[in-house]
Amino acid sequence: KFITFEGGEGSGKSTQIKTLSLFLKGRGIDHIITREPGGSDGAEELRTLMLTGDTDRWTAMSEALMVTAGRVDHVEKLIKPALEQGQWVISDRFYDSTKVYQGVAGGLGLENMVNLQKLALGDFTPDLTLILDIDVQKGLARAIQREGANNGNEDRFERKGLKYHQALREAYKAIAMSESDRCKLVDASGTIDQIADAIQQVIEPLIAG
Ligand code: C5P
Repeated sequence: KFITFEGGEGSGKSTQIKTLSLFLKGRGIDHIITREPGGSDGAEELRTLMLTGDTDRWTAMSEALMVTAGRVDHVEKLIKPALEQGQWVISDRFYDSTKVYQGVAGGLGLENMVNLQKLALGDFTPDLTLILDIDVQKGLARAIQREGANNGNEDRFERKGLKYHQALREAYKAIAMSESDRCKLVDASGTIDQIADAIQQVIEPLIAG
């Protein structure tokens, strides 16, 4: 199974991925954890290129092409081989991030980004996408606390403005609605344990099936 986690800044994806990994381990499910932007050697290089320097270093289109180029490498070199060996793959972000960050918040258009993903990946798609939904202010406060104010993240998050982050949240919700077979919106405002329980309930049928 290929499971992706999505959500805005500070939605708690990485914490929940660690918790899910322990849960899967307990159930004897062999799995790997990966992330985007990045995940393979080439894609990690592109991640560094994209995320270092000024926030306005790249246009949304340059970002979209970089993350998508990285994604093709990630899928071919890491994700598909793991799935073929029968491992589950859990990815912190995947193509919905491009739809939301560059397509909607970046202004390139959701449909254009859907088409770009189809061009790049064909019909390769996650089996399940968990979208962690949290109030924007609460998420940003969490993200800043986690990353520390010294490495430029506070600046990076805040310069985009609340409206930008609100647009991300709405776009994720819209994807959850329109692709409800693949996507599950998870309320990420509760405690770590509450969120983990909600996620495990969604995962359980996948283990059985
Ligand atoms: O997963 P995480 O939240 O750490 O994402 C790393 C950064 O990459 C985020 O700050 C996000 O804004 C950015 N990103 C992006 N476009 C994407 C995916 C991630 O700008 N398609």
